[in-house]
Amino acid sequence: MEMGAAAFLRECGPCTVCCTVLGVPELGKATYRDCEHLCGTGCKIYPDRPASCRTFACQWLRGMLEVDGSIDLELRPDVCGVMFDYQPDSAFGEAFTAWEYEPGASIRGPAADILAELSERFLVVVVSAPATEGGQPATRLVGPPHLVQQAADARWSGGGSSVDASGKTR
Ligand code: SF4
Ligand code: SF4
Repeated sequence: MEMGAAAFLRECGPCTVCCTVLGVPELGKATYRDCEHLCGTGCKIYPDRPASCRTFACQWLRGMLEVDGSIDLELRPDVCGVMFDYQPDSAFGEAFTAWEYEPGASIRGPAADILAELSERFLVVVVSAPATEGGQPATRLVGPPHLVQQAADARWSGGGSSVDASGKTR
């Protein structure tokens, strides 16, 4: 699927992970639900897709996840099971959200390697599918201990993590 991909060397190809895991405010689409406009070939309303779909690009599509500069299909979200998103100016500095598409994919395989690398320097919110239909996605925080503590404190005080884990918003 092509999202806001015109400026990128990589192509979404058959991946549609963001159309499932992310919310789309304009459509009232919740996280971890297939978009009603998904079809076998991608997006049924591609020319008229909402602005948030047009502007979204995951970190793989942006070319930020790579091994030796190659276009590494192993890390495409539908293949590795995790989609990484980037927030350049969260309350905790540069931060990431790792959206699990395949249960457990953030703790094994190439996505786990990327997560371990990112969490050495950045706060990462790992989001997983709700345990029950209609429930809230599960989240856990990983990263440098002082950032994890700050983010946990912010959540406890009701301030949220300030790291986007909602949808196709920029
Ligand atoms: S998750 Fe990334 S690669 Fe997959 S469709 Fe969305 S933007 Fe494209
Ligand atoms: S409307 Fe947006 S989320 Fe839905 S299928 Fe099209 S690109 Fe994906």
